[in-house]
Amino acid sequence: MTDSILYTSDSDQQFSKTALFCPTCEHASPIGSDWIMDDSVQRDRLLCPRCGTVVVDQPQL
Ligand SMILES: [Zn+2]
Repeated sequence: MTDSILYTSDSDQQFSKTALFCPTCEHASPIGSDWIMDDSVQRDRLLCPRCGTVVVDQPQL
């Protein structure tokens, strides 16, 4: 059924908007859940809780 395919792609889009994905260990979870906020820098920096990779690194606005 094409209906189920449409439903799947729609939920994938929603997921990608609210979730972060670690390219190193493939850990994925929503923003604000288990990602580690690095408060030692004046930037919006989030670290992966599993491997420590910097997943988000951008100037604070
Ligand atoms: Zn990771």
